[in-house]
Amino acid sequence: MYHPYFKLITFSTLVTSSLLLLGLKQDTANITNAQLNEQSLLAVNWVQQSGEYQSLTYQAFNIAKLIFEQAKAKKVRQPAIIVDIDETVLDNSAYQAGFIDTNNSFESSTWNKWVAVAKAKAVPGAAKFVNYVIDNGGTVFFISNRDRSSTKGSQNNDLEIATINNLKSVGFKGVNTTTVLLKGEFTKVIDGKENTSKQWRREAIENGKANGKKYTVIALLGDNLNDFDETAGKSNQERRSHVDNNRQRYGIFDADPKSKTIEPAYIALPNPMYGNWETGLYSPQAVQKQNAWDMSPSQKNQQRKESLIRWLSDK
Ligand SMILES: [Mg+2]
Repeated sequence: MYHPYFKLITFSTLVTSSLLLLGLKQDTANITNAQLNEQSLLAVNWVQQSGEYQSLTYQAFNIAKLIFEQAKAKKVRQPAIIVDIDETVLDNSAYQAGFIDTNNSFESSTWNKWVAVAKAKAVPGAAKFVNYVIDNGGTVFFISNRDRSSTKGSQNNDLEIATINNLKSVGFKGVNTTTVLLKGEFTKVIDGKENTSKQWRREAIENGKANGKKYTVIALLGDNLNDFDETAGKSNQERRSHVDNNRQRYGIFDADPKSKTIEPAYIALPNPMYGNWETGLYSPQAVQKQNAWDMSPSQKNQQRKESLIRWLSDK
C-alpha cells in the first residue's frame, strides 16, 4: 500500500546516497541563523563594494532615461514613471549587513526602525534620473510595500514621513505624500478581504485617483518581478517562464506598437541580497511547513543546496 512516508524516506535516502556517490557530505547538522546569514557576506559586499553593481544600476537608469526621451518624442500625454523604493532607488544594504554575525533575520519591527532613522543611501544614478524626469515635464511615483505607520492600523503616517525625508535627504525631487504610495493606499476588497497589491496603486495613477490627473505609465523600475506584474508566480520556475513570456518588455518602451494602450517598459535593478527569488527556492510543503518564513535555518540551507546545478570535476 502506498504510504506518504515511504516516498519521503526513499527520496531522502536517494538524496543521501547520490550525494555520497558524488563525494559530497550531506548537511544534516542543525545550523543557526547566524550561520545562514554568513551566506549573505558576498552578496552584501557585492552591492556595497563592487563597481559591477554600480555599473548595472547606471545601466538601468540610462535605459530609463532613453525611454523617457522616446515617450517625449512620441508626445505621450502626462508621462509617468513608477519606481519601487527599496533596492531600486534606496540602498538598504546596511540593514542587511547588520544580520552578519548575529542570529537575527528580517523582522518588521527592526525594519521599521531602520525606515524611521531614514539613513538609506541613494542607489547610484537613481536621484539624477528621477530629477531629470521631473525637470523635463514628467512625473515619478514611488510605489513601495513599506508600512505607512509604525503603529499597525493607525492613521499616523510616521514611516511615510520618514521615507519622504530619507528620499529628500539623498537628493530626490518631487517626493511628497501624493507621489509616495505605500502599502495600504488604494487597496481593493476581494472576497471580503483587503488586497494591498501594487496593481491597484498603479491603476490609481492611470485613472486619476492618485492626484487628479490621468497619467500614462511609460516605465516600471524594480528589483522584484512583482514590481512589474504580480502574476509572476511563486516558484522560480514559474517566475522564469513569466520573464521569458515578457522578454520583449525588458528595457523596451511600447514593445507592441499594435496594442491600443501604451505598454510600459520593465527595467530591473540587481538585488542579490533578498527577494521573492529566495522564497522561490523553497518548498515548505516538503518539510511540512505552511510557508517559507516558518522553515528553520537548516531546512532553508538544505533546500538552497538542493536547488544548485552542479558539475564536479574528477580530480
Ligand atoms: Mg524593492
